[in-house]
Amino acid sequence: MSERYRIKLKRLLNYEMSDKLRDEVTRILSDEKAGPDDLMAICKKLSAHKKLVKPRAEIDWNPTIDYSKCNGCQICVHFCPKNVYAVTDQKPVVKSPTSCVLLCSRCMQKCPNKAIRFPDKADYVQYISYR
Ligand code: SF4
Ligand code: SF4
Repeated sequence: MSERYRIKLKRLLNYEMSDKLRDEVTRILSDEKAGPDDLMAICKKLSAHKKLVKPRAEIDWNPTIDYSKCNGCQICVHFCPKNVYAVTDQKPVVKSPTSCVLLCSRCMQKCPNKAIRFPDKADYVQYISYR
């Protein structure tokens, strides 16, 4: 568990962050005695400071469908709890792209034909700050 938090914290250092928070994260990461509770505490603290740097509507995070692979099974349509998809002519369409939960890609994993794609998660770093 603590290793998982360490990996998460190292990754979060790539994001825009106040100097104070960055110092705290760096200190915890370099403290070999820091246990799971310490790591979890700083992760929770960071979560409380997490902000989108632009409105959701301007963030490129939603599924796209490769219709050359899609067989119209509609698993994605029934799976998505946010009603991002609708059905037109027996095929899914991305009806409400900005209802898609940021960084969720669970429907992609459910698609039996690998027909659903998302932007690169690494690009997401530009949309979040911890200040
Ligand atoms: S789950 Fe995949 S194959 Fe099925 S309708 Fe959705 S995109 Fe198409
Ligand atoms: S990524 Fe999540 S929220 Fe977005 S369409 Fe798929 S299941 Fe719905």
